Amino acid sequence: ADTWSSVPLAPPDSIFKLTAAYKADPFPQKVNLGVGAYRDDDSKPWVLPVVKKATELLLNDPNLDHEYLPITGLPEFTSAAARLILGADSPAIAEGRVTSVQTISGTGANHLGALFLSRFYEYGPAGKQVYLSDPTWINHFAIFRNVQIEPLTYPYYDPKTIGLAYDAFLETLSSAPSRSVFLLHACAHNPTGVDPTKEQWGKIADVILEKGHYAFFDCAYQGFASGDLEGDAWAVREFVKRGVPLLVCQSFAKNAGLYGERVGALHVVATTTEAANRIKSQLSVLARSEISNPPAHGARLVSLILNDEKLFGEWKQDIQTMAGRIIAMRKELHRLLTEELKTPGNWDHIVNQIGMFRCVFSFLFVLV
Ligand code: PMP
Repeated sequence: ADTWSSVPLAPPDSIFKLTAAYKADPFPQKVNLGVGAYRDDDSKPWVLPVVKKATELLLNDPNLDHEYLPITGLPEFTSAAARLILGADSPAIAEGRVTSVQTISGTGANHLGALFLSRFYEYGPAGKQVYLSDPTWINHFAIFRNVQIEPLTYPYYDPKTIGLAYDAFLETLSSAPSRSVFLLHACAHNPTGVDPTKEQWGKIADVILEKGHYAFFDCAYQGFASGDLEGDAWAVREFVKRGVPLLVCQSFAKNAGLYGERVGALHVVATTTEAANRIKSQLSVLARSEISNPPAHGARLVSLILNDEKLFGEWKQDIQTMAGRIIAMRKELHRLLTEELKTPGNWDHIVNQIGMFRCVFSFLFVLV
């Protein structure tokens, strides 16, 4: 008998399948609303000017080699990445309570975070579970199932208001067994583009603290959402400030346009240096068996940019170019629908939502 006769045929990934169909389609005015990747005015991928510059610097570095990185990644990269998300003046960093590990972009950070929870988090009698927003980035479900954590959902999007299902969200936070894990999108929620306000985040943090829950932050769009790196990190920093136990998954795919380089980090904020060291030792063991060492190129690029004041300034400009264009597109679409086409209905959500994603009526334009 055929060794693999019992392997069922899996369906292709719907978003990447759409990309293949898009590439094959000869229609000149085609538009791809699938993959969440930034495009310029000619619908072309955009290599950030600062990334071009950093690439030149790397290539001309006579000391560049191709040795292995440490298991937990390039130290100059992980430390700068932690300062970027948690704030350069973060007390948690100053107190040595943050463990940072380089990962295979945001997906790898989600995976490593989930794997770590699956191994070490003290779950209650309900077993290994995670609460995901309804809806969420579709890959979250598979990532947690892969490590034997059962995904549940909490209400997030209210189609009636095209906004946050705030009361129902809070209700689920309150009624979930204590010490539950909640996955939160740090900014530019995928796929709805709906984020809580600062006041709502504050209340969410209150309930999480009261109930002893754990916050699993996924941050794939820092800077990309509003053009402001600090503003987009606000919720994460506020939670750290309030002492909410948490981890953060960080991606440089979108904000540095480094989709294919797979550069990201997992940051676990602990209560003591000693705990952070223990966590790091276990994350190293997990990373070693899975990837042994992370890839170097993307981390070197991002490290150059984050650790050089001038390049960092240029990166912020590039981020504003991208975020500014997305915001301008939203304004123009809103203007065309309302003023020009006089389309019935209210289209304000198009300008109120943030990032690349949006819900128009019940159509979801979703994304990688
Ligand atoms: N989390 C969310 C919410 C995302 O939207 C994405 C990418 N679309 C990711 C994580 C991971 O992306 P990457 O692995 O390319 O960094």
